[in-house]
Amino acid sequence: MAGEVLSALRPRVEGLAARGVQPGLATVLVGDNPASRAYVRNKLRTCAETGLHAELHELPAAAGEEEILAKVAELNASATVHGIIVQLPLPRAVNAERILQSVVLSKDVDGFNWANLGALVDGHVQLAPCTPLGVMKMLERAGVRLEGQHAVVIGRSSIVGKPLALMLIASGATVTVCNSKTPDLALHSRTADVLVSAAGRARLVTADMVKPGAVVIDVGINRDAAGKLVGDVDYEAVREVAGAVSPVPGGVGRMTVAMLVANTVLAAEKTAPTR
Ligand code: NAP
Repeated sequence: MAGEVLSALRPRVEGLAARGVQPGLATVLVGDNPASRAYVRNKLRTCAETGLHAELHELPAAAGEEEILAKVAELNASATVHGIIVQLPLPRAVNAERILQSVVLSKDVDGFNWANLGALVDGHVQLAPCTPLGVMKMLERAGVRLEGQHAVVIGRSSIVGKPLALMLIASGATVTVCNSKTPDLALHSRTADVLVSAAGRARLVTADMVKPGAVVIDVGINRDAAGKLVGDVDYEAVREVAGAVSPVPGGVGRMTVAMLVANTVLAAEKTAPTR
């Protein structure tokens, strides 16, 4: 599905080339977190494969807030950059919120700007967060009907759970959002026609928590005791009960990167000169 999303972007990238524009994504990477470095490499490669210009701006782990803000300001002003992402996590010493909100609205391809998030409340998708967008695209491409269905989202973060809940509401689903204080998670998950887990807890969702035939989307990225990359869902057991379940790795993660590229193309289209 991610490959299909990227293929569908190619004619739009060519259309922009005809207008003298190559969409450009700039990534700010602070420090040397190996997981962040792997994500960034993946994003850069996917951009290059789709015909985008991608640049990496690395700052040392000791970089202060002002230095990072200055870098974002430079990219905000760059004519060849249409999208900016600040790779998370940022060092604890800096105010991540202040830095994320400093990305100019028109280049906010992560969709974290409060104005872009606020648009979702009114059912408008401008530059929306890539992971929820990727989940919605998966459901759409799999032909999953949402209207009249009960969707349960586990997790209420501002970058995954909450924006996803807003998108599901806009699609006509009845939505329940759970969090770490939800007393009986299974009570809710067992009634879900569509269950999305974005908690970041390995094997949180077990087969007995899933309604037979339900669609299960696993957003979580965790390491199990053996150091293996796993999602939130006990995949092998849940696939016996669910109608469909997305794997980790190779599921939402790839869709997230595809939606990031899509957002960058969209951001470039919005500012490209018409010929
Ligand atoms: P986050 O900010 O830590 O939020 C996690 C949410 O899950 C919180 O709302 C938390 O509740 C809730 N939660 C934690 N344990 C729970 C439990 N036992 N039962 C019910 N709810 C529980 O994380 P995030 O940034 O949203 O990311 C969530 C997961 O998705 C992580 O594993 C992350 O790595 C992954 N992720 C994947 C992608 C991708 O591309 N595939 C992208 C982004 C994130 P409280 O609010 O009460 O604490």
